[in-house]
Amino acid sequence: MDVSHHHKNIWQRIDWPVTLFLVLNPIIGILAAIFYYTQNNLDHRILFFSIAFAAATNLSITAGYHRLFSHRSYEAHPIVRFLFLLIGASAFQGSALKWSADHRIHHSKVDTDLDPYSINKGFWYAHMGWLFLKDSTDHNPKAADLEKDWMVVLQHKYYVLFAFLSGFIFPTIVGAFFGHPFEGFLVGGALRIALTQQSTFFVNSLCHTLGKKTYSDKISARDSFIVALLTHGEGYHNFHHHFQLDYRNGIRWYQWDPTKWTIRTLAFLGLAKKLKRISAQEILKARLQMESIRLVSKGFSADLIEQMKEKVLVAQSSLKKLQEEYELKRKEFSQSSQEKFQESQDRFFESKERFLERKAQLQLEIHLKKIELESAINQWKLYLKFAPV
Ligand SMILES: [Zn+2]
Ligand SMILES: [Zn+2]
Repeated sequence: MDVSHHHKNIWQRIDWPVTLFLVLNPIIGILAAIFYYTQNNLDHRILFFSIAFAAATNLSITAGYHRLFSHRSYEAHPIVRFLFLLIGASAFQGSALKWSADHRIHHSKVDTDLDPYSINKGFWYAHMGWLFLKDSTDHNPKAADLEKDWMVVLQHKYYVLFAFLSGFIFPTIVGAFFGHPFEGFLVGGALRIALTQQSTFFVNSLCHTLGKKTYSDKISARDSFIVALLTHGEGYHNFHHHFQLDYRNGIRWYQWDPTKWTIRTLAFLGLAKKLKRISAQEILKARLQMESIRLVSKGFSADLIEQMKEKVLVAQSSLKKLQEEYELKRKEFSQSSQEKFQESQDRFFESKERFLERKAQLQLEIHLKKIELESAINQWKLYLKFAPV
C-alpha cells in the first residue's frame, strides 16, 4: 500500500467538490425546512411527493445499491435495476459501481485499516468523515461482475449527469407542475438528499456502535431495532455481516426491515427472483454459539451448555427432516395416484390407505418433535434469563 499520501497536507487530501456538496446541501435543505415550517406555506402536494421520493431513494440504496448490486442476494428484472440506478443516483452517494466496490471491501476487510469506513477510525470518520478525503477509497473501483452489466457501467460513466437530473431537475419539474418549482428544488431536492444521506451514513456508524452482537463477536457490527428504524431495515447489521448473502437483514416477521418487504413484494410481482436465504439451522447455530459463550462466562458449566445446545440443534434438524419427508410423501402420492386410479381402482385405494396411515404417523411425529424443540428452547431461554447481557 502506498503510504506517502498520509504525509500530504490535509488540505491536499480533501475532496473539495464532495466536501462542499456534503456541507452546503444540508445547510440549504435545513434552512428551507425551517423557512417552510415557520411560514407554514409549503404546498402539501410537494411535501407528499418529497416523502414518497425520499422513501424511493432510500430503497434504491438499500434494496438496490446494497442488497442487489453489492451482495447479489437476489436477481431483479431490468426495469427494477434501471429504476434503482436512476433513483439511486439521486441520493448523491456515488455510482452503484463505486458504492458496491467500496462496500465489498468494507465487508472483506471490516475493522481493519483497509476498511474504507472503519469504525476503528472513530464514529465521525465512519459516518461521513471518510467521504471528505480523496484517498480514503480506490478511485478505480473494481467489480468484475458489475462491469459486465451495461446499465451499471452507463450509470457509472454518466453518474454526475444522472445525479443532477434525477436528484435536482426532476423534483424541480414536479414542483413546477404544482406551480412552485423552487419548493420542489429545495424540499424534493436538497432536503430529501440531506436526510436520505444521513440514513445511509448511519449504517456505517451507528450499525457498528449500537446494539447487540447476536451472531458473531468477531466483528464490530451490531443488531438494533432503533437503528433499523433509521436505516430502512439495515440495523440488523451483525446478522448482515455474518450472513451477507441473505437478502434479509431482519429475519423475523416483527423485525423492521422494509427493504426485505420491498424485495419480497418485487418477487411476488414477478420482478425479482432467486432470493438467497441462509438456512434456519445455520442461523440458529450461530446464535446459540454466541449465547453459549455468554452463559459459560456467567459461570455455567461448559459441558452442560454444550449438551443443551446440541439438544436444540438436533431437535431442529430432525423436525426439518420429518417435515421434508411429509412433503415428499404428499407429492409422491398425488403424482402416482392418478396413474394408479386409471390402472385399477383396487390398487388406488390400497395405496391411498397406506398413504393416509403414513401421513397420520408423520403428523404425530412432527407434533412430538415440535414439542421437544420448544421445550429445549424454553430450557435454553430460562438459562439465558439468569445470564443477562
Ligand atoms: Zn453489506
Ligand atoms: Zn458494516
